Amino acid sequence: MFVLGIESTAHTFGIGICNEKGDILANEYNTYVPKSGGIIPAEAAKHHIKVKRILLKKALKKAKLSLADLDLIVFSQGPGLSPCLVVGRDFALELAKKNKKSVIGVNHCVAHIEIGLLFNALKNPIIGFFSGANSQIVCFAPKYKKINSTEMLKRKEKYIVIGETLDSGLGNSLDKLGRQLNLPFPAGPKIEELAKTGKYIELPYTVKGMNFAFAGLVTSAINKYKQGSKIEDVCFSFQETAFAEVVEVCERALSFSKSKELLFVGGVAANQRLQQMFKIMCLERGAKFYTVSKKFAGDNGAMIAWAGLKKFKKERKTKNLDIRPTWRIDQK
Ligand code: AMP
Ligand code: MG
Repeated sequence: MFVLGIESTAHTFGIGICNEKGDILANEYNTYVPKSGGIIPAEAAKHHIKVKRILLKKALKKAKLSLADLDLIVFSQGPGLSPCLVVGRDFALELAKKNKKSVIGVNHCVAHIEIGLLFNALKNPIIGFFSGANSQIVCFAPKYKKINSTEMLKRKEKYIVIGETLDSGLGNSLDKLGRQLNLPFPAGPKIEELAKTGKYIELPYTVKGMNFAFAGLVTSAINKYKQGSKIEDVCFSFQETAFAEVVEVCERALSFSKSKELLFVGGVAANQRLQQMFKIMCLERGAKFYTVSKKFAGDNGAMIAWAGLKKFKKERKTKNLDIRPTWRIDQK
């Protein structure tokens, strides 16, 4: 069985192809970079329309397949920016109709996790999912029921969110800071680079129970820069503060759940410093740290193909193919 996955929720348009064994046969993607400021949804959608056929051709060539060889078309149904989601959904429907293929929609956040689980065979992980717009600490619902049975027993979803950002995602917070520091989008990698030679300046740290927040931290970091702090010091201090927040909450999640496995996924998983902080925390409490390689950390089509294949085996069909811009990971 060959499965084609289409990713288009925000900045990146991607086409991935996998088979039933989980071999990734192709993973082509292209990212929209705004001329200035943040992502303009309509402009990102125009970018996706421009690159979609080129990427499809490249992916099929890489996988040595034709459209006729495919068994299933999968698209990212949400959450995401509506104009971008529509491009991916319509392309999936077009390809499925023309070639008489089945089509299925998947939750983009679930796909980030499923690709992590494809490369790491884990039983009961705590999942730190940190991307541009989303930042959540997640675990398998059936395992969590044991700890929090009254609330959770009523629910049927596979994943439960046990902690999350109260404002922006970690990646978007890095990007927001980056814009004020005149760094190109996405700013995460550049901030990581600059942080390597920075020194610590005190910044506000916000953890509330199992949740965390970054908005005040972004504002304070920008103010420090405007008041004359060195860019390297601002980047270093921002990373140390924001990352300590999420490591603290992940550690508490490991403790509550008695899990010994931490899986780190999403675009921010490319960050070596945060990986290192998670590794130290895991080592200190006898847990193991797992992550994905850079090309599967950020938005990509391969994760959509793989998540779609797993969903197809259970459900066969997506009844409602409308886009779902606000679809949470813990909603059916
Ligand atoms: P995603 O939405 O999952 O594709 O993740 C994109 C986000 O990941 C963007 O906000 C990037 O700034 C962030 N990102 C990418 N590489 C890194 C990195 N090395 N360090 C921190 N953040 C990163
Ligand atoms: Mg994403």
